[in-house]
Amino acid sequence: MSDLTNPFLIVQGQLHRAVENLGFPEDVYEVFKEPFRITRVAVPVHMENGSIQTFIGFRAQHTDVTGPTKGGIRFHQDVSEDEVKGLSMWMTFKTAVMGLPYGGAKGGVICDPGTLTERELEELSRGYIRQLAPVMGPEIDIPAPDVNTNPKIMGWMLDEFDKVRGHHTPGFITGKPLVLGGSLGRDAATGRGVLFVVLRAMDRLGIDPKKATAAVQGFGNVGTHSARLLAEAGVKIVAVSDVRGSAYNPDGLDIPALLRYAQEHRTTKGFPGSREISNDDLFSLDVDVIVPAALENQIDGKRAELVKARIVAEAANGPTTPEGDELLAERGIFVIPDILCNAGGVTVSYFEWVQNTMGYYWPEDEVNDKLLRMMNDAFDTIYKMRNEHKVTMREAAYLVAVHRVAEAATARGWLSLDFQHQVPPAILRGAGD
Ligand code: NAD
Repeated sequence: MSDLTNPFLIVQGQLHRAVENLGFPEDVYEVFKEPFRITRVAVPVHMENGSIQTFIGFRAQHTDVTGPTKGGIRFHQDVSEDEVKGLSMWMTFKTAVMGLPYGGAKGGVICDPGTLTERELEELSRGYIRQLAPVMGPEIDIPAPDVNTNPKIMGWMLDEFDKVRGHHTPGFITGKPLVLGGSLGRDAATGRGVLFVVLRAMDRLGIDPKKATAAVQGFGNVGTHSARLLAEAGVKIVAVSDVRGSAYNPDGLDIPALLRYAQEHRTTKGFPGSREISNDDLFSLDVDVIVPAALENQIDGKRAELVKARIVAEAANGPTTPEGDELLAERGIFVIPDILCNAGGVTVSYFEWVQNTMGYYWPEDEVNDKLLRMMNDAFDTIYKMRNEHKVTMREAAYLVAVHRVAEAATARGWLSLDFQHQVPPAILRGAGD
């Protein structure tokens, strides 16, 4: 990972720019430029071959200025301290964009879960939570699934946390199985949020979903639900890819059949009627929408030059490098930034936590309706900001988010900004023109 692709340095740059654009003093950057707590854990696991292997994990908690911290746990061989630090800060700005009562956090364990047996994975998941239990809880820090983690793992983690505490704490973790207090609609929530903002963007740009085409990179939780729901809305999905391969058919892929195929073969590669394309080819397809739903740094300067789509919907966190972002903006491509585009997941996680607190559970249509309203409201606020100040959707999202956390920090007495008689922020004086 170079400085140009380091999520922690990237988000620091985004924060700094927003502080400047808002005309806020440097103090705002100083308060939010680092996670307030980073915990590093070493988790020994008894391997099937009789050996013991110790795995390193992290949990970064960025700020609790607007509530307990919240964010997923990732199992991946490329996890690093800087990656979770950066991802925890993106979570802060995501929850701020959505107006949720949380700050940001993120966790990760350096491992390749594909090489672990189910028992090894369970021991690792439980050990990770046991070590972090002192700094977690429904009112402190609430984890959720992310790359290579899922409801089953959330169930093990909840059980371990309950054992440590000695009582039931369903609100400790979200994205858990329904039978343990999960929320209807959570599994598909990130993809459903992607659908809602893509439809909103298409409406604003005059694109008819029924005549539109899309390509999706990544076919895990976020990618599968995004592809399925977009297809149900009439969008023709011509390509999808995963870490092992891809499926391309210019006439459109049969998404329900592809889902069954991918479930069975654990890849989209070789799907009947499709052919393989590279990630470079996928990003250069002549489609209306590209949905990166895999990992960070997929659209760099080189790929940004290739993009022909009118909309890039950032379903993954940090899929575009700053260089790629600048080029997409120069080329007039409408980017729905990650902190808005994939916020459906944390929003329904919030609904799950609220339901756990009440002990009263909502039907799925209620969850989806509430999500629709919140995604549309957030989209509209950011879109208005973008048009009024002639900035990109990403810059507009950061203006909204940083304004909110700075206001909360001021209300707590951490900063002394004057929100009552505020000088018009630099951005309102045309600095962004
Ligand atoms: P996942 O593990 O379920 O799926 C990841 C997918 O990406 C897999 O299909 C994998 O094969 C694919 N992939 C990995 N490297 C790839 C490559 N080089 N080319 C093509 N495909 C590749 O993870 P997920 O939960 O779907 O998360 C995906 C992204 O969305 C991450 O950036 C995550 O942080 C973000 N996100 C997830 C959620 C959530 O609710 N799960 C919420 C918000 C954001």
